[in-house]
Amino acid sequence: MSDQFDGGNRPPDGIDDTPTVTCSRCDAEWDLEYELETLRVGNRALERFALDHKRHTGHFPDEVRPWTAVCERCSDGDEFLSERPARRWAETHTRHTGHSVSLEHTDTETTVVDAGE
Ligand SMILES: [Zn+2]
Ligand SMILES: [Zn+2]
Repeated sequence: MSDQFDGGNRPPDGIDDTPTVTCSRCDAEWDLEYELETLRVGNRALERFALDHKRHTGHFPDEVRPWTAVCERCSDGDEFLSERPARRWAETHTRHTGHSVSLEHTDTETTVVDAGE
């Protein structure tokens, strides 16, 4: 009888060493070393990557569930990382054009910024 159990429940080392991001539209994967080491954005690395990816490719990577603002009249619109800039875009568009704008997040939430006075 041996009782030399060696605690096999320990997680492997380096499990969240350098976070990675995948994008199925680009069919590629990146680590965030550039964001962490060069841009030094710390825990905003994913956010920074997502914004840069959007700026240069026109879409967000897989991990990001963007807020989408879409005008119901002229189908102008844009995607944002969080609700606040999306809502600001919607309110600004409504202010200048009088159009109503839908704010969508994932498949479940949709709110409308109305053009009401
Ligand atoms: Zn991509
Ligand atoms: Zn519009």
